[in-house]
Amino acid sequence: YREMLPINRDEEPVSLGEGGTPLLALERIARELGLDALYVKDESQNPTGSFKARGMSVAVTVAKRLGAKAFVAPSAGNAGGALAAYGARAGLPVRLYVPRDTPPLLIEEMNGYGAEVMFVDGLIDDAGRLAAEYARQSGDFNVATFREPYRVEGKKTMAYELVEQLGCVPGTILYPTGGGTGLVAMWKAFGELERLGWIGGERPLMIAVQSDGCAPIVTAFARGDESATRVENAATRMWGLRVPGGIGDRLSLRALRESGGDAVAVSDDDADTGMNDLHRLEGIDATEEGGATLAALRRLRVGGATLKRPIVLFNTGTSLKYAPRAGAK
Ligand SMILES: *Cc1c(COP(=O)(O)O)cnc(C)c1O
Repeated sequence: YREMLPINRDEEPVSLGEGGTPLLALERIARELGLDALYVKDESQNPTGSFKARGMSVAVTVAKRLGAKAFVAPSAGNAGGALAAYGARAGLPVRLYVPRDTPPLLIEEMNGYGAEVMFVDGLIDDAGRLAAEYARQSGDFNVATFREPYRVEGKKTMAYELVEQLGCVPGTILYPTGGGTGLVAMWKAFGELERLGWIGGERPLMIAVQSDGCAPIVTAFARGDESATRVENAATRMWGLRVPGGIGDRLSLRALRESGGDAVAVSDDDADTGMNDLHRLEGIDATEEGGATLAALRRLRVGGATLKRPIVLFNTGTSLKYAPRAGAK
């Protein structure tokens, strides 16, 4: 998809083979829900085990070309692991600011790729402030969500792949939403495909899924607000969704509304059940955030919502980094 990305024709991208992930049909779960066209886009199969790889490949490629000598970013876990790996691939140092309670395997991954990890007493937005301050002082390139344009560009490829794999525009996309880059990137990509004449005006219903312990987008969507209000005491085991306040809120809310979509909060326990079902019934290495999309679909089916087919659930990452989980259920 080079022609659609800010990658030059003759440029060697900083790549680890990201993207090209499978779109897996769900048979048993589809039967349970009385659905015929239900899929998981399995982003756990990316380098470093999450869709964050797509964005970091493009961001690191362009920033390096523009002269970046070092990278800094805040992270709830997967973004840090991905930046650490792509920084190593580019031969440039990485410093990460992460909440102190981030699960140990995520930290080990960052350390393993040689990144310097700074612990923060607080959440991702507190980490974001420290990362921005450090970037100002040091001149390092800040790769924080929505502080530079290239991570979103890289994540557009998820939408291109869906259209290519399905042979049509998906009817409904359920996406676990933290900062909102994935949603915003796919919405942008569908617009580009229409301008190229490859699709018409049809669009998927975009449905944001959050944890009921941290659901700023769901709350703002329900209220009809244009931006989100920061959630105090945000708490969820879904680390990628523990984003208490406005990062990509305006753009995410606009995409949800323009698509005719929705925003749904589920409990961490229901997300766990969804995750375990994807593992046991379908053999998919779903993370809790991925499981949350199945929990949201079940909720919407029970509520009688009409969803356009085909329906795509996003499994945004691997479950393995949130261990220890052995013996849990
Ligand atoms: C980062 C992350 C998310 C949230 O992604 P956004 O596109 O920033 O909203 C969801 N799931 C996982 C596993 C993540 O790492």
